[in-house]
Amino acid sequence: MTALVWFRNDLRSIDNTALSRAMEAGEARALFIATPGQWQHHHMAPVKLRLINHAVDNLGEHLAKAGVRLDVLVVEDFAAVPAALATYCREHQVSALYANREYLVNELARDNAVAETLACPCYFLDDALLAPPGSVLTQQGEPYKVFTPFKKQLKDRLLQHLGQVQPRLKGDAIEPPTKAVFSSPDCDALLEGWPLDEDAALLAMRRFVTERAADYKTERDFPSLDTTSRLSAALSIGLISVRQCLWRLLHEHGDAVWDDASGPGTWLNELIWRDFYQHVAWHFPRVVKGRAFQADTDAIAWSYNEAAFKAWCEGRTGYPIVDAAMRQLVATGWMHNRLRMIAASFLVKDLQLDWRLGETFFMRHLIDGDFAANNGGWQWAASTGTDAAPYFRIFNPTEQGKRFDPKGQFIRNWVPELQSVSDKYLFEPAAYPGALDYPQPIVNHKEARLKTLALFKAIKEG
Ligand SMILES: Cc1cc2nc3c(=O)[nH]c(=O)nc-3n(C[C@H](O)[C@H](O)[C@H](O)COP(=O)(O)OP(=O)(O)OC[C@H]3O[C@@H](n4cnc5c(N)ncnc54)[C@H](O)[C@@H]3O)c2cc1C
Repeated sequence: MTALVWFRNDLRSIDNTALSRAMEAGEARALFIATPGQWQHHHMAPVKLRLINHAVDNLGEHLAKAGVRLDVLVVEDFAAVPAALATYCREHQVSALYANREYLVNELARDNAVAETLACPCYFLDDALLAPPGSVLTQQGEPYKVFTPFKKQLKDRLLQHLGQVQPRLKGDAIEPPTKAVFSSPDCDALLEGWPLDEDAALLAMRRFVTERAADYKTERDFPSLDTTSRLSAALSIGLISVRQCLWRLLHEHGDAVWDDASGPGTWLNELIWRDFYQHVAWHFPRVVKGRAFQADTDAIAWSYNEAAFKAWCEGRTGYPIVDAAMRQLVATGWMHNRLRMIAASFLVKDLQLDWRLGETFFMRHLIDGDFAANNGGWQWAASTGTDAAPYFRIFNPTEQGKRFDPKGQFIRNWVPELQSVSDKYLFEPAAYPGALDYPQPIVNHKEARLKTLALFKAIKEG
């Protein structure tokens, strides 16, 4: 009898709940199912697809060392998964299926269909988050709609029950499988420096926690310093678990981890934001269906100005920090968090474009594209979400540039047209007395701000 582990967003052999449970149950084998049509439908970026391809290859090798064979199936989309799994389970006499739970609408529907189709029992286990959705509720048993009390409640829960990190599995090694058979675009150059397997992800995490976490609170907002962990890609496909991050933090920094004012405490809060948005998507599935969390904001008459959207996508808005950010995203598949906030705010509050356009564009490019975090971030910036920035608090893109890239290193790196412009004009190149091969601002921020306030007021005040 064989226990099957179905890997999805948990591409690691260490501290993997489903894998451990399957190995306790008996002889285990493993399966990954590629669904290219579904990934396309979910706007997965080519660089993320390539990352998954490498991660699956590497997972096969890690599992083989513990005596577990990994197979890869390719089907078009989630709808084809139940039948493919049923056939596989019959052929390999699978007695039970184990998988770590995913919490979004399509994934939950897929798993329900699998459980209904398979003849054997299916165990879907909580593994991906610090606390599973439904376990962090208000005293009235309601889901939290604001981050701070959610964070407090989750921390209290963690203090009572941390959850163990499971050790590396042991078994008699077998031959590693041949490389994964699903195709992915060759963008390996973009993957340079990113962890492609669990060992590299662990190393990167330990390095960050030891060398950077202490200064995280003071340094994290400056894109040119590049002092955040860059673990989002690894976390988004489960090369590393959030428990491993938390335990390492505690090991290195002790009680400082529970202090919001410390670097390690601030980093833990970011990991809790990750949980928060997954909980929101689970409790309020309308956000997964293209709807605003704050239903009234769906009535906002967003503009559909193609030229403005194109300029934003291409980093030609005439606002240097926005353009630098967008060029970083398109060229590398990643963007610093502060810049994600600035670029998102600009699309919505300066161009009055629908936040969903930006949300999709980000997913199409991000190596760490994660529906819940991306949707949460966009709805925060658009003032349509949970805990959103109040609509009247509108980032000034010029001031944001001055504040978070004060020496202009980030801007000069990504906008070479401004490389020789002095600090005086760098943030407002339109005032530069000479000629520049750089666009004039596509909007006047002051006027755009008033326009946005009017849009929101129209729906907030009837
Ligand atoms: C508009 C917008 C879109 C975003 N889209 C995504 C996305 O698709 N995928 C994604 O992982 N994050 C997204 N974020 C959150 C955040 O920008 C990234 O997680 C972070 O920049 C990744 O860099 P890092 O790994 O160095 O993060 P660190 O600062 O080192 O943080 C550690 C980890 O905490 C998590 N995290 C940090 N901030 C957030 C946050 N605000 N929300 C949820 N999780 C967070 C990530 O897993 C991150 O790796 C988005 C934010 C905004 C404003």
